[in-house]
Amino acid sequence: MTSYEHLLQVLRDQGHRLTPQRLIVLRVVAEGHQHMGVDEVFREAQAAYPFMDLATVYRTLRLFKQVGLVTEVAIGDRLHYELIQPDDRHHHMVCRVCHGAFNLSPHYLEEFNSTLVNEFGFVPDLDHFTITGVCVNCRSEGRKPSDQIPKEVLTHEDHS
Ligand SMILES: [Zn+2]
Ligand SMILES: [Zn+2]
Repeated sequence: MTSYEHLLQVLRDQGHRLTPQRLIVLRVVAEGHQHMGVDEVFREAQAAYPFMDLATVYRTLRLFKQVGLVTEVAIGDRLHYELIQPDDRHHHMVCRVCHGAFNLSPHYLEEFNSTLVNEFGFVPDLDHFTITGVCVNCRSEGRKPSDQIPKEVLTHEDHS
């Protein structure tokens, strides 16, 4: 687990000011569940700091991505963010029907990686690689990518 203090140090080391907005967004992402949508980050950040605005959240997340603190995962047509944790590297399987994101351990792609290197001399960027498809739940219920579930139904489990 990356400590919050360590994250702050990374920002400071790269010469970024630790504004209240940045501290709050960082804390929200660090304490949140994985793969948070921008709107979720915004809601939680605003609860902690009423003067937060959406543009700042976008800008801050972009900065964190640039600095290498968070990674971006496209789920459906929306970007999600999660903290990069060296001890929890994973790829993503994203369901095109329910927009669920499932973690995939890097070892599943090791062979694929070596094949590209050995046979094509091509070194792929597989970090935080996202594979889209249809998840086991949607398949067992016979749902297809065209049966889009309305967005309102797609609430995350932590919105209690
Ligand atoms: Zn699904
Ligand atoms: Zn993830």
